[in-house]
Amino acid sequence: MTVSLPDWEATTDVVVVGTGVAGLTFALDAAPTMRVLVVTKGAPDEANTSWAQGGVAVVRDEHDPGDSVADHVTDTLVAGAGLSDPTAVELILGAGPGAVARLIARGAAFDAGPDGLLRTREGGHTANRVIHAGGDATGAEIERALLAAPGLPTMLADHLALDVLLDGHGRARGLSVLGPDGRIGLIRAAAVVLATGGAGHLYAATTNPGVATADGLAMALRAGAALADVEFMQFHPTVLWTGPGELGHRALVTEAVRGEGAVLIDATGASVMRGVHPLADLAPRDVVSLAITRRLATAPGGVSDHVYLDATAIPPAVFRRRFPTVSAACLRAGIDPTRQPIPVAPAAHYHCGGVLTDLDGRTTVPGLLAIGEVARTGLHGANRLASNSLLEGLVMGERAALAVRADVSAATSRPAELILTDPPAADPAGRLELQATMSSSAGIGRDLPGLLAAQSAIASLGDDPAGLHRATPDRPAVETANLALAAGALLAAAEVRTESRGCHVRTDHPNRSAEWERPVLVRARGAAIEVLEPEVAR
Ligand SMILES: Cc1cc2nc3c(=O)[nH]c(=O)nc-3n(C[C@H](O)[C@H](O)[C@H](O)COP(=O)(O)OP(=O)(O)OC[C@H]3O[C@@H](n4cnc5c(N)ncnc54)[C@H](O)[C@@H]3O)c2cc1C
Repeated sequence: MTVSLPDWEATTDVVVVGTGVAGLTFALDAAPTMRVLVVTKGAPDEANTSWAQGGVAVVRDEHDPGDSVADHVTDTLVAGAGLSDPTAVELILGAGPGAVARLIARGAAFDAGPDGLLRTREGGHTANRVIHAGGDATGAEIERALLAAPGLPTMLADHLALDVLLDGHGRARGLSVLGPDGRIGLIRAAAVVLATGGAGHLYAATTNPGVATADGLAMALRAGAALADVEFMQFHPTVLWTGPGELGHRALVTEAVRGEGAVLIDATGASVMRGVHPLADLAPRDVVSLAITRRLATAPGGVSDHVYLDATAIPPAVFRRRFPTVSAACLRAGIDPTRQPIPVAPAAHYHCGGVLTDLDGRTTVPGLLAIGEVARTGLHGANRLASNSLLEGLVMGERAALAVRADVSAATSRPAELILTDPPAADPAGRLELQATMSSSAGIGRDLPGLLAAQSAIASLGDDPAGLHRATPDRPAVETANLALAAGALLAAAEVRTESRGCHVRTDHPNRSAEWERPVLVRARGAAIEVLEPEVAR
């Protein structure tokens, strides 16, 4: 096999991949003290961050009587179903108020009333602590503010990161990228930061925009990094259902709509959540998604593919002002949410696991950091608490920017020989089959035969045996290869976790098991995925 030589080279201190909340926060914080190059595969604002609706969960202590960071920690640990790391939870949530204050200082405008910032409640929270912007357009405002903030370093938009490049000592020292002109570039750096966001397009229906193709997970795997908790894909319970067979990126109906009083009903008008959980419609997401899935299995009223979110009790003017994004999406689909229940169904939404990191964003590969949704810090455990992820991106972006200084000063003195790799590539024609397989075998409700069959089906979809796509790589071919590798990791972890916990529901192991109160760690060995004992990872 011949290794592609780069068409161009550049050198910087640190290269960060991704322009969502985590990557931009990192870049802005790191830029004053080092050379930072930002790489992003689409337009700068193409990111999960831009789509976030509900808000940022944060206890801004001085303004929040009756709430506390300790209560936020407790709610997060409950949602995490025994797998959150209490140290990570306390540190990240405790750093939240300061990180949000600095975001506001950078220009993000949150919705406010006469008594300060407005706060709402979302599933799993026991207090109103979710601040929001533009009603339900929080992420768009955060993205706007960060992209407009002074001091943003040089950015290569429309450049797809292909691989993290290692030196002969196994240290991350660069990145290969594919430009819009099809040319491959090599960026030498003392440290590489993955802030590549989510993996929703592992599944046939997702709330994630098209950029969320698990690239960071795959790059980390190919670089030899350990991943953890990857079996926990959170399915958002209320994604706008617009018809059978509707695939790809779908509109979210934020949980905050239930926070304002909307309730889930089935096609017969019966409540979905009554009697299921003490928090009823505001139960954690895994509970609500599973309850909907179970209800749909009984096809109430002959309907087996969607339930309804009845928001008609919310005054129309309030609904339109508070939820302009949801209103617009519903109206585009011909639904007036102030007059008729909104058809909804669960869809892939947030990847709780990811690249195993410490609380400075360091992965198990020296010189490689990961922050934001692509990373697994231990905050989310088996199920992310609503609106904790924007906060995690802010806090970890800041912390990694501080930590990376040491990597930069340690590495710049040593010139590196980089080990070049061929671009990942697979036939893009396999992508739909991969997504359909993941939805049917690794969605809400998994079992051993389905997981094994999915692993063998997807292994062949990640191949490019004749090297046709590798010879002239393009974004669809690279993304398909990345999806296949990341899917393999998720399936392997889901196979070994023989219990049900949080977002991971095994129909053949329906109960939670004390034996599994620990993360599943995985790593790539060539094209194969191996499951590690925790002490082996570091
Ligand atoms: C519809 C929706 C609603 C949500 N609502 C909320 C909410 O209310 N509150 C909350 O806390 N969270 C919410 N979330 C989750 C939250 O938005 C994300 O977890 C968070 O924004 C992730 O930020 P990030 O910086 O890690 O990644 P992202 O914002 O996804 O950014 C990833 C970046 O990496 C780039 N990238 C990816 N691969 C490559 C590559 N190979 N090469 C170059 N660039 C690459 C992408 O283009 C993008 O710029 C929501 C998510 C969605 C989809």
